[in-house]
Amino acid sequence: MSIETKQEFLERILAMPKPSCPHCNKTMQLWEVPPVTFSDGLGWGSPYLYLCFNDECPLYDQGWNDLKENYAQNASVRCLNYPGTDQFECMPVFSSQGAKGQIIDEQIMAEEKMLKEQTKKGFSILANCYVEKDTLTIIRLLTDPCEPVRVRIKAAEMMGDFGELESIEALRCMKTGNQAMQKAIEEAITSIHDRFFTRECPFCAEIIKKRAEICKHCSREVAGK
Ligand SMILES: [Zn+2]
Ligand SMILES: [Zn+2]
Repeated sequence: MSIETKQEFLERILAMPKPSCPHCNKTMQLWEVPPVTFSDGLGWGSPYLYLCFNDECPLYDQGWNDLKENYAQNASVRCLNYPGTDQFECMPVFSSQGAKGQIIDEQIMAEEKMLKEQTKKGFSILANCYVEKDTLTIIRLLTDPCEPVRVRIKAAEMMGDFGELESIEALRCMKTGNQAMQKAIEEAITSIHDRFFTRECPFCAEIIKKRAEICKHCSREVAGK
C-alpha cells in the first residue's frame, strides 16, 4: 500500500467543492500545513487543511472570551476541516493573523494554472505517441509522479489500447495511492491480456495463454485457475 503523493492529494482535493464552515457558513480556505510538527509529533495528519478565516465566525469570535476565561490564554480557535471528509475540528490561533501565512489560495491558483498547462502539454505528447505507437514515452509519462494525474490516467488507457505483453511487468510494478489511477492501470493490464489471449500464472506470475492447462514456466496445473 503506497501513500498518495502531496501533488496527487492536492489534485484530488481541488476537484472537490470547498467545504463551508459549520459555524458561520462561509466558504473555508485551503491551508498548507506548516512543516513544523506540533508538540505531539503527529502534525495534522494531512498536508492540507481547510480553515475558516472569517473574523466574524461565531466560533472564532467567541473563542477569545472562552479561552481567556477558561485557560487565561489570549487565544482563540478557528474551525478546521480535513479535506475530503466531514470532520471539523478546532485549531488554536494566537492572533487574528495566526495561521494566515499559510493561506494558499493564491498559490493554489498559480499551481492550478501550471497544472492545466502541464495537462495540456501531456495530452498533446500523448496524442503524438498514439500516432507513432510510442509506448516508451507513454510509459514514461505514466510512471512520472510529476505528471498530472489526468495525463497519467490517459497514458494508462493508451497502454491498454496498444501496449505489448512486455509492458505488463512495468504496469504491475506501479503502485499509486491514487485510486482512479490504480484502476486505470488494472484496466490497461486486462485489455492487454484480452488482446493477446493471455493471463498471468496464479503461481509464478509469468504470462501464459488464457487456455493453458499447465504453466510453461512453473509446470503447475493452472486449468480453471
Ligand atoms: Zn466559520
Ligand atoms: Zn507458473
